[in-house]
Amino acid sequence: VMPGQAPALLFYSEEMNQRAKEHLRIESELRQALANKELLLYYQPKVSLRSGRVVGAEALLRWRHPVRGLVSPGVFIPVAEETGLILDLGNWVLEEACRQIAAWRDANLMMPPIAVNLSARQFDNQLPQRVADVMARHQVPPEQLMLEMTESLLVRGADNVIAIMNKLVAMGLSLALDDFGTGYSSLAYLKKFPISTLKIDRAFVIGLPFEENDCAIARAIVTMAKQLRQEIVAEGVETIEQMSFLRELGCDQLQGYLFSQPIPAADFERMLGEGKRL
Ligand code: C2E
Ligand code: CA
Ligand code: CA
Ligand code: CA
Repeated sequence: VMPGQAPALLFYSEEMNQRAKEHLRIESELRQALANKELLLYYQPKVSLRSGRVVGAEALLRWRHPVRGLVSPGVFIPVAEETGLILDLGNWVLEEACRQIAAWRDANLMMPPIAVNLSARQFDNQLPQRVADVMARHQVPPEQLMLEMTESLLVRGADNVIAIMNKLVAMGLSLALDDFGTGYSSLAYLKKFPISTLKIDRAFVIGLPFEENDCAIARAIVTMAKQLRQEIVAEGVETIEQMSFLRELGCDQLQGYLFSQPIPAADFERMLGEGKRL
């Protein structure tokens, strides 16, 4: 060991200790948040690049903390995944999304399908039954619900994951592969999964149309998705230039601040009522 390394190591473990404490605090506060109804869903529209119409929305979790205000899921989802609390959280999200879909239906509002994010840890053999139960309780038809999952799932589980996905598809649900391009899936690998939609990660959208590498990656993803007859959604679209480039590539939908940030259910409802277009 070099003389200079000991303090650095000590410092690092102190830092890890702080991190562990912070995680514990977030975890216990999150449990309370679930009980105290501090969680809510925002909805971010997905827009067709052909028609300019809203054709879907993604439900995104928000935590209205009594002291800290609106806490980003980027902060608490990783903690929930680490601690396993994501199972309860995930069930709440599914329940709340289905409740909202049913409320819209009961109000005779025509709303597009809503996509819910699933963490890899939610993928167990009971998942299809859990989803079916929630849908049945709220009488949500499968066309109204989509599930988004990331590539980490595909790498983690082998045949089991495919079997679970196939069950969900057999129930009539459509599945989207989220954050595409950031993980490890090879093209051959991708073909095995019953996925109807690919979402290009924002990391590759940012540089469009000026970064050559991002353009090449986006073009490759769209070309491949078309070969596999998958719908393709670009996330994090913020500029008109990005939109134009994606439209020329033949990308199907965009999601991003250019059209709308994630918004509360009532605002989303109003937006559809007013017929907002791209
Ligand atoms: P994600 O699934 O990739 O969701 C898209 C994220 O990009 C959202 O962040 C959204 O607000 C943000 N975004 C959308 N358009 C733009 C844009 O034009 N510019 C920029 N800069 N950002 C944009 P958010 O809501 O903070 O969520 C972060 C992540 O937390 C999500 O990434 C997802 O992985 C996770 N998450 C959110 N809700 C849930 C949930 O209910 N369950 C699970 N398991 N994960 C969730
Ligand atoms: Ca997502
Ligand atoms: Ca995403
Ligand atoms: Ca992303």
